[in-house]
Amino acid sequence: MKQVILVRYGEIALKGLNRNYFIDLLVRNIKEVLKQFSNIKVKKVQGRIIVEVNENSIEEIIEKVQKVFGIVSLSPAILIEKDLELIEEKISERALKRDFKSFRVSARRGDKKFPMNSQELSTHLGGIILKNKDNIKVDLHNPDINFFVEVREDVYIYDEVINGLGGMPVGCSGRTALLLSGGIDSPVAGYMMAKRGLQPVAIYFHAFPYTSDRAKEKVIKLAEIIAQYIGKIKLYVVPFTDLQLKIIEKCPEKQITILIRRYMSRIAEEIAKKEGLGSLTTGESLGQVASQTQESMLVTGEVAHLPIFRPLIGLDKLEIIRMAEKIGTYETSILPYEDCCTIFVPKHPETKPKLERIKESEKALEEEAPQLIKEAVENSEIIIV
Ligand code: ATP
Ligand code: MG
Repeated sequence: MKQVILVRYGEIALKGLNRNYFIDLLVRNIKEVLKQFSNIKVKKVQGRIIVEVNENSIEEIIEKVQKVFGIVSLSPAILIEKDLELIEEKISERALKRDFKSFRVSARRGDKKFPMNSQELSTHLGGIILKNKDNIKVDLHNPDINFFVEVREDVYIYDEVINGLGGMPVGCSGRTALLLSGGIDSPVAGYMMAKRGLQPVAIYFHAFPYTSDRAKEKVIKLAEIIAQYIGKIKLYVVPFTDLQLKIIEKCPEKQITILIRRYMSRIAEEIAKKEGLGSLTTGESLGQVASQTQESMLVTGEVAHLPIFRPLIGLDKLEIIRMAEKIGTYETSILPYEDCCTIFVPKHPETKPKLERIKESEKALEEEAPQLIKEAVENSEIIIV
């Protein structure tokens, strides 16, 4: 007998020719989140993935596997040989351990050579359970517990179906540069794109000493939380102070936020080029702040050649907060450490910047900017989280 977890995938099973590629990625991602455990096997079996738990705690393993995108549901199960007596013995044992008043057995015969068909086996095992436990009855429509028995190459017995997160296996859509601040929004944005199969490479603009080491630690912590869904994340901590101070020194105050944004996009694109990433992802949401109007996004996006994904664009702050709570980033995001954009917020920021005027202002930086961008990329600290 083996303790296993049955892992079911949905959407990805529909991907035709890519099917095997998707499933292999899913297997890889499951292995990645379980790498701290020894003696675990993850394998593909007939349209499923089976995780063999061995001596490890099945609860701990489920908690990890549940966070892998591309999984529709999972069930802790036992795997036994195809032997009727053994099935009877194991299902009785299981029924005695569980607390219920009504039940059903849902047997499925995948192997046509097995002597009983699905219906016969369900009825037979239902009878065995009734004989072995008092004060219970069969209820086919609304049972307290449903005992599933699947007869395939081996036999699986389980009575729990846990929902997965859905989505697609991380990596199947490529990789994105996630502009990760210490705020509430960008971690949620990273989560959403990862759910669509993009592996994020996080980029944090750090304006030390205006933003403290604690602010950086907070971003690392956020990356760690997102990494639970992804396996691991590469984080660039970009030294942003020199460029930011130059902008403040040389450009009109009310344009500062927009200009900072443009330089962030430029640096992010440089890193994307170096890493071979196919897009940028931000936590912007329409109308949330001055720099998140259509006009501002036109101006900040204008410097980027890659597509910019803004998965939160149509969400309310409250909806985003709810997601952050669900994902587990909220508590960390609200820690009160300064953010490089809030330190230098102009009193009257421009909400409808004109591209021409912004470009005009950037002329003041024309000479130093390319070198400052290059240095920022080169001097970035790279942390594998
Ligand atoms: P967040 O909660 O994600 O910080 P926000 O509502 O504070 O977002 P802004 O500060 O305007 O909004 O930032 C918009 C987006 O720009 C962020 O979601 C993030 O993707 C990116 N960004 C802002 N500041 C930084 C930073 N210091 N490092 C990396 N990305 C940043
Ligand atoms: Mg912010």
